[in-house]
Amino acid sequence: MATILPSPPRVGMVSLGCPKNLVDSERILTQLRSDGYQMSPDYAGADVVLVNTCGFLDSAKEESLDAIGEAIAENGRVIVTGCMGKEAETIRARFPGVLAITGAHEYEQVVGAVREAAPMPPSAFLNLVPDAGLKLTPRHYSYLKISEGCNHRCSFCIIPSLRGDLVSRRPDAILREAEKLVAAGTKELLVISQDTSAYGVDMRHSVWPLKGGGEVRAHMTDLSRELGKIAPWVRLHYVYPYPHVDHVIPLMADGLVLPYLDIPFQHASPAVLKRMKRPGNDAKVLQRIHNWRALVPDIAIRSTFVVGFPGETEEDFQYLLDWLDEAQLDRVGAFRFEPVEGAAANLLPDHVPEEVKEERYARIMERTAAISTAKLARRVGRTLDVIIDAVDEDGATGRSKADAPEIDGEVFLRDAGHLTLGDIVPVLIEDADAHDLYGVPV
Ligand code: SF4
Repeated sequence: MATILPSPPRVGMVSLGCPKNLVDSERILTQLRSDGYQMSPDYAGADVVLVNTCGFLDSAKEESLDAIGEAIAENGRVIVTGCMGKEAETIRARFPGVLAITGAHEYEQVVGAVREAAPMPPSAFLNLVPDAGLKLTPRHYSYLKISEGCNHRCSFCIIPSLRGDLVSRRPDAILREAEKLVAAGTKELLVISQDTSAYGVDMRHSVWPLKGGGEVRAHMTDLSRELGKIAPWVRLHYVYPYPHVDHVIPLMADGLVLPYLDIPFQHASPAVLKRMKRPGNDAKVLQRIHNWRALVPDIAIRSTFVVGFPGETEEDFQYLLDWLDEAQLDRVGAFRFEPVEGAAANLLPDHVPEEVKEERYARIMERTAAISTAKLARRVGRTLDVIIDAVDEDGATGRSKADAPEIDGEVFLRDAGHLTLGDIVPVLIEDADAHDLYGVPV
C-alpha cells in the first residue's frame, strides 16, 4: 500500500528591492525548500506569506508598506523581513497583525519565524532530524550558541578576522532552541559565544515578543533569566567582566543560573592587558569578585591565562601570581603564548624566550593547583548537587555546579551504580585532591 505523506505547508514570497535582497530571498526559499516547505505562486494557496522589504529610499519604504498591506489583505498571515526590519515599530503601528519582523540577512530568524507560523507536520519520512537537532554531546547537556563573531580586537586573537563582528541570535530563537533541548532530555545548558557579555549589543538590546506572551530583551541578563526558567542548570561561558555582569549574580543567588562564571581574564598586569587589548580591563575586578562572593559565596570562577606574552616582564608575571593569590579563582587553565599567524601581537617587541615561558607556565600551574587543592578540601564533608555523566558497576562520575564538562574537575562516586546519566543527585563529599572530588550519593 502506498504511504501518503502529510502535505507540507506552502510559503508565498514577495521580494522587493535590489539584487542583494533577491539573493536573500533565494537563500531563505532554498532553506525552506530543503526543510520540506512548498512554494505558493499566489496569496490564496499560501499558509504564510513572506515579504522581503526594501528601505533604501522613502519611495521604496512606501512600496514595501503597500506590499505588506496587500499581503495582509489577501492572506492575513504575514512575516516581514529585509531592510525595513529595522523599522519594526513603523510596521507594527500600521499592521499590528504581522506575525514576525526580522532584519536583512537574518536568515535563521526568518526561517525560524516561518517554522513557528506554519510548522511542518510530523512525519517519520520527513523528520529524520530530531526537534532538538543532531548533537555531539550526551543527551543531558548541550551547548547553546547565542552569538557569532566578536567586536574586540585582542592582539593575540584572529577570531574577528575569521568570523567577523558580533552577530547575536534572536533571543526568542535561542529560547525556542533551549526549550527543544530540554524537551529532548537536556538538563544543563552551556551558554557559549565569543563574548557572552556583549550579547545583543548589535541589536541595541531590542525587545522581542515571546511565544506564550511577554517579551525578552536581547541582553545577557534577560536571556540568562529566561534560560534559567527553562533548564535545571544554566552555565555561562566566555563572560567578560563588564559592569552589567554584576546583574547576573543575583540570578545565581536565586538559583536561576549556576553559580559559575567562565571569565577568560588572560592576564592581570595592566601593562600586559593593555598590549593584549583586552576588553573589560577593569582595575577594580578584584573588588568585584569579592562583592560577587559576598552575594553568592559558592560562586566558582574559572579562567584562562596566557604566560610569556610579548613584553611580559618578571614583574608582570609576579603581579599575575599575586593577583591569583588574591582572586582565589576556582579553576585555571594556562597557555604559553604562541604567535598565531596573522595576530597583531606577533609584531610586538620583546618576545619572551621559550625557556622563560616554560618556567612561568610551571609556576602558574603550581600556584593555581595549590589554590584549587585548598578550595576543594573545604568542600569535604559538605553535600553538593552532582550531575551524572557516566555510570559503571563500580560507581559513577559526575560534576558539581562548579564544574563544566571537559574543562573542569569531576566528582567520583562510590556506591552509585544505580544512577542514570543526567540524574542530579545530592552527594556527600568524602575526599578531594587538586582537581577532583570523591563522594557517595546520600
Ligand atoms: S580573544 Fe578578544 S578578539 Fe578574540 S574572540 Fe575573545 S574577545 Fe574577541
